[in-house]
Amino acid sequence: MQSMTNRGMPVTIPAERIIEPDHPDFDVARQEWNGMVDHRPAVIVRATSTEDVVAALAIARAAGLSVSIRGGGHNVAGLAVGDGALVVDLSAMRSVEVDVDRRRVRVGGGARWRDVDAATQAHALAAPGGMVSDTGVAGLTLSGGMGWLRSKHGLSCDALRSAQVVVADGRILRATEDENPDLLWALKGGGGNFGVVTELEFELFPVGPIVATSIALYPIDEAGARLRDFRDLVADLPDEVSTLADLAPIPDDDAFPGAMRGHGGLIVMGVAAAEPEAGARLLRPLGSLGGGAVADVGGSMPYADLQQFFDADYPSGTMRYYWKSSFANDLPDGMIDRLVDGFRRRPSHHSTVDFWPHGGAAARVSFDESAFGQRETGWLISAEANWEDPADDAANIGWDRDTVAEVGGTAYLNFPGLLEEGEQQARTSHGATFGRLTEVKRAYDPDNLFRFNANIPPAIGR
Ligand SMILES: Cc1cc2nc3c(=O)[nH]c(=O)nc-3n(C[C@H](O)[C@H](O)[C@H](O)COP(=O)(O)OP(=O)(O)OC[C@H]3O[C@@H](n4cnc5c(N)ncnc54)[C@H](O)[C@@H]3O)c2cc1C
Repeated sequence: MQSMTNRGMPVTIPAERIIEPDHPDFDVARQEWNGMVDHRPAVIVRATSTEDVVAALAIARAAGLSVSIRGGGHNVAGLAVGDGALVVDLSAMRSVEVDVDRRRVRVGGGARWRDVDAATQAHALAAPGGMVSDTGVAGLTLSGGMGWLRSKHGLSCDALRSAQVVVADGRILRATEDENPDLLWALKGGGGNFGVVTELEFELFPVGPIVATSIALYPIDEAGARLRDFRDLVADLPDEVSTLADLAPIPDDDAFPGAMRGHGGLIVMGVAAAEPEAGARLLRPLGSLGGGAVADVGGSMPYADLQQFFDADYPSGTMRYYWKSSFANDLPDGMIDRLVDGFRRRPSHHSTVDFWPHGGAAARVSFDESAFGQRETGWLISAEANWEDPADDAANIGWDRDTVAEVGGTAYLNFPGLLEEGEQQARTSHGATFGRLTEVKRAYDPDNLFRFNANIPPAIGR
């Protein structure tokens, strides 16, 4: 490793891993998943170790730069790369170590969910992740983390047992229930506000390797009625079953019924955290809403495949995306009808409106246990505007905002649009936990070095 001087600071990061605007890789290195995002940082540091992260923060402090953190680079608002910031890029830190006896997994700060699923499923174990395998473990977890195991095992952040964090002044801290417990609490929902997380440790649960799924397809003309049936059904489903209903384009693919292919429809999906046979029984009602689904294209499948089921729908760097969301206590009939109407008016065929029941284990965690501030709501509604042509930006963003405005609650910070509301969005989304989060922020990042996030300002005064 060669020693070099950067911006007046002696550091031990090899020159080829420090990428400034005149570097030939600069444009590739600053590219994020959302093709609509075009941020120009001051410098990108490709870290390969916790020591690199310490050195990168020293450079930032010496140069007076604020810091953005790149985990999986899949932030919907493009927060991994800040305009004018020093980017701590953790993409190379993707290690995964499974401890089968203790049912724990230790994961590098730049790992993707597919890395974790591959290593843990080799032992029929899983940590609750998201629904697309390319998303970063750290970014998703630090703001909550909703996936197919949430009703049984909670959000991703609920399974976080410890973390290694480089805080603003360069100290390397462990956050556990005994060591810096306030930091661990804040990492469970408070986002990337408190430092660079170089390692996360999760509890693992027995899952798979084969799980039962239901992917039931209903015609768009029945969508309102079937969504009412779905709303009434999920209240009675056991924790083993996690569900999602999407108003979405039905893929133009042989696996789907001919009459529906290429058109909008309602997809009611469920996954059972149970033995496949018992799971299939638990899922049966999802395909029997009203007079029954046109088809159920689910069935038993490897959990690792399920985790990649949606991957192809979300190409990186080419499509334009704007995803806003709103929690809701209830789903009244009128709201369902307006959301179905909204879906029918979508400017882009690729866009969806998604209904996430928010209950079971994910709803039974107290504010003392985690900073995630939205436990007591029944539903998350998200509108995904997905399109290709920059000329259509205004129409798609406007559609998304109008659709979510029908719900009128607070946003899930992993689906925040472009986070236009800034700190106000963090304040309203955290709600009950916001005050305590500002205290933790003051303790670990008093000068707000980490501000490319749903920013929590450091508390003022003593
Ligand atoms: C295709 C797709 C599917 C998705 N599906 C789901 C889903 O099923 N469930 C769900 O809950 N969410 C989902 N999301 C939202 C996702 O959780 C967020 O976009 C999240 O920010 C992605 O994390 P990342 O590490 O890839 O992001 P990045 O862009 O790398 O980082 C985002 C932010 O997270 C913080 N951060 C990231 N890594 C670290 C770290 N190591 N230390 C400290 N802070 C860090 C930083 O503040 C950073 O600005 C999805 C997103 C996409 C693009």
